[in-house]
Amino acid sequence: MSVLVYAESDQGIIKKIAQELISYGRALADQLGTTLYVAVMADVGTQNLAQYGAQQIVHIEHEALQSFSADAFAQAIAQSAKSVEAEVVLVSSSANSRYLAPMLAVGLDAAYVPNCTQLPLSTSPFQVTHSVYTNKAEATTEMTSAVKLIGLAKNAFGVSHFEGTAQTTSLTPDLNPSKCHVSATDRATDKVMIADAEIVVSAGRGLKGPENWHLIEDLAEVLGAATACSKPVSDLGWRPHSEHVGQTGKPVASNLYIAIGISGAIQHLAGINSSKVKVVINTDPEAPFFKAADYGIVGDAFDVVPELIEKLKQFKTLNA
Ligand SMILES: Cc1cc2nc3c(=O)[nH]c(=O)nc-3n(C[C@H](O)[C@H](O)[C@H](O)COP(=O)(O)OP(=O)(O)OC[C@H]3O[C@@H](n4cnc5c(N)ncnc54)[C@H](O)[C@@H]3O)c2cc1C
Repeated sequence: MSVLVYAESDQGIIKKIAQELISYGRALADQLGTTLYVAVMADVGTQNLAQYGAQQIVHIEHEALQSFSADAFAQAIAQSAKSVEAEVVLVSSSANSRYLAPMLAVGLDAAYVPNCTQLPLSTSPFQVTHSVYTNKAEATTEMTSAVKLIGLAKNAFGVSHFEGTAQTTSLTPDLNPSKCHVSATDRATDKVMIADAEIVVSAGRGLKGPENWHLIEDLAEVLGAATACSKPVSDLGWRPHSEHVGQTGKPVASNLYIAIGISGAIQHLAGINSSKVKVVINTDPEAPFFKAADYGIVGDAFDVVPELIEKLKQFKTLNA
């Protein structure tokens, strides 16, 4: 019996959500009195994984896994889990992990609960808490299958640090030909991606028009942030649809979310409420977003944002 984490990577670099997932996996393995295995693809360097809590590493090597394919990855992870007799398998809540998780659950004959927000309430019976209805409620679910597949919500646990090293073993999975073949992948932008961003600067109709977006881009640049927008902004063609966040857009789980000229409609909040700290800049003190904000500035974006950029630049120069 063991716990296995599938640690996602991008171009050989382990993602931040994977660091958090490994730390969660280690806490769960400790709770169960067992060992944490971390499965990574072949291009990932394994030497740093012990610092997040990995005890054993499974290095998955197969040429069919050089780019993401949900069914091939699901087969490979399932075989890794079986090879270490994992009782609990953990995946993140990224788009790719959500895509492969149901296939993985079938491969392992496992119950699958996504969006878990904390360690299991109990391991016998095995009960987990997870957010539902776009984070508006929490449910408790009992998992009765022999193998359990858990998806961890972003920013639910945090990254822990450990001393020590982890042993690595290699596994070459036996893969059935994939039913889906990705022939090319184009990144939407070479800037910071919303899904991976620590900081997101987002703006709404309060910005009045696309000609004013230089303010948002300048603020994002000084913070090393991704840019995002409300739905009407992308519907109006002011910004690309890839930036639309909310219930019908991309989910955001950044450490800092700065909302400028966005009213805070429930459909917008549904997509961003996993972000840790929310800062709102709005002229209307009654804007609903202020109720969800950690920090609020009642003011005109056209005054506040340039001043903020200026102050941040000064701060960076002083601390360079
Ligand atoms: C089924 C459905 C799904 C939806 N999905 C989404 C979704 O995924 N994401 C999403 O965002 N919306 C979604 N919506 C739309 C949502 O209901 C709101 O209409 C939308 O979020 C409002 O966008 P906004 O805040 O940019 O614009 P507005 O509601 O027009 O708000 C603009 C805000 O800017 C402020 N403002 C104006 N001037 C300034 C200034 N100079 N400086 C600072 N502040 C200023 C105003 O006070 C106001 O609060 C959905 C709606 C439906 C019905």
